[in-house]
Amino acid sequence: MNAGMLRVGLGRDVHPLVPGRPFLLGGVELPSDRGEWGHSDGDVLTHAVTDAILGAAGLADIGELFPPSQAAWKDADSLKLLALAFGLVQKAGWRLINLDCVVTCERPKVLPYRDRIRASLARVLGVPEQAVFVKGKTNEGLGALGAAQAVEALAVCLLERP
Ligand code: MG
Repeated sequence: MNAGMLRVGLGRDVHPLVPGRPFLLGGVELPSDRGEWGHSDGDVLTHAVTDAILGAAGLADIGELFPPSQAAWKDADSLKLLALAFGLVQKAGWRLINLDCVVTCERPKVLPYRDRIRASLARVLGVPEQAVFVKGKTNEGLGALGAAQAVEALAVCLLERP
């Protein structure tokens, strides 16, 4: 295989969990008595993915592109923000090879929704579902994550420019 230039990217995000908000991961709503607090819709996984992809391309971070101080991004659909960010990355000549993610939360369980989440992210990024993976982990009861007061997401991606 004749690879072009390869770049790895890393993203991380954390959101508090509060009652009365949807629990969103990659645009998929999981049943939960609480959800992510945030200026946008709070989709922690989509934010981590957006930062990973922007970082790999060396373009910006999500807070620079979509500042929480701007009313336009209030309750914004994070998948739309990801699509906008990925558009910039593609414009710079990059294509996504793969994406791997870890979501840490005590509940709900991610596994029953994993493949829907993979499909949702893959659709926005225009890659096969096999190129996107998501793992759910608990924090073994430790700290704010372990007390189900917060959810964290990590994402790593590989971009190629021919
Ligand atoms: Mg965020």
